[in-house]
Amino acid sequence: MSDQDSIYLDHAATTPCDPRVVDAMNPYFTEVFGNPSTMYEGGRKAKQALEGARETIANAIGAKPEEIIFTSGGTESDNHAIIGLAEAGKMKGKKHIVTTPIEHHAVLEPAEYLKARGFELTILPVDEHGIVHPEEVKKVLRDDTAVVSIMHSNNEVGTIQPLSEISKVTKEAGVPLHTDAVQSFGSVPVNVDDLGCDLLSISSHKFYGPKGVGALYVRKGTRIRPLIRGGAQERNRRASTENISGIIGLAKAAEIALAEMEVTSARITKLRDRLVNGLFNVLTDIRHNGHPTERLPNNVNICVRGVEGEAMLLFLDMKGISASSGSACSSGSLEPSHVLRAMGIPQEVAHGSLRFTLGKKTTEEQIDKVLAEIPAIVDRLRQMTPYQQPPEHYKMPEWLAAKA
Ligand SMILES: *Cc1c(COP(=O)(O)O)cnc(C)c1O
Repeated sequence: MSDQDSIYLDHAATTPCDPRVVDAMNPYFTEVFGNPSTMYEGGRKAKQALEGARETIANAIGAKPEEIIFTSGGTESDNHAIIGLAEAGKMKGKKHIVTTPIEHHAVLEPAEYLKARGFELTILPVDEHGIVHPEEVKKVLRDDTAVVSIMHSNNEVGTIQPLSEISKVTKEAGVPLHTDAVQSFGSVPVNVDDLGCDLLSISSHKFYGPKGVGALYVRKGTRIRPLIRGGAQERNRRASTENISGIIGLAKAAEIALAEMEVTSARITKLRDRLVNGLFNVLTDIRHNGHPTERLPNNVNICVRGVEGEAMLLFLDMKGISASSGSACSSGSLEPSHVLRAMGIPQEVAHGSLRFTLGKKTTEEQIDKVLAEIPAIVDRLRQMTPYQQPPEHYKMPEWLAAKA
């Protein structure tokens, strides 16, 4: 199968680099290669480019340039935020951290790490749509809470949190709020003052930039310890010679994403709705996951009764269609998605999850091809399992039935 025929619907896992981003990066590998910490012209040029990129990223999220730390990606930004805040809090006697069960592993693992090092960890509940309710946050905050980390939008089911409401609660309690906005940036508006967060993570390769580069926003006045120690780069907050070409790519990708977001997101939303409605038309006994309206424009997540998500992926792949059964990190294991489980979806239902995440190159023809191929795949797999009456979980939700 040629690349032209293949249908990529896994943009939450990663996106292709925009050729305009590659063009912007190129001179910084071979021509402007100086170390930005040096004084001579080549170094100064690199430093200038670095500070320009910082300004671009700051403007893109409504921050000040000095509030931006460049990192190696979403994972490092999340680790830095959580471990850095916890360690700063510990110096003042704080020993409590708060997060949610639907976070990316880049948040959950550092939280577990801190728990093993003596911090108390509270995991907030989410409702059946994956929403964290502000009053639940209020209930658990303590005088010794060092950090609250709640993602802006979820990578598996696309649910967007009421962060501006949640931040009112954390602000009142004087607790720093970190948000993982890796899936949101470039897809929906992200402004640190509107959200009211104190820290925010983004990752370049989720919005058509290069892999291995991201940023962490840290609101002025927030106490945080460094994660990577060594040189004095990034105002002593993140050591190591700056990844100039990557950072230039990150900034260029951000610039393009913002310029094109409105048009692109509107187009993708239409295609997403075509896919969801189409799936309910061509398949029986499926359920839709995530919030009906408070969700990313590009995310479709369903559970198909009596079928393993992984099995569907293999058959879709044979037809040249790339999708996911949940988060990329947990595929390969047969554990059902921790996100779906936290939303109260029974284990056997969660096993049948399938995620399609659309992108700027996705076309109507591609969506229709998926809708044409999937019924035979599901039929074939279902023939291998005994038929039972469909349980409640697979009824079409009312909001969707009303639309159809
Ligand atoms: C992809 C992703 C990350 C990790 O980002 P990397 O740049 O791949 O390290 C973190 N959080 C969310 C929500 C993501 O989707």
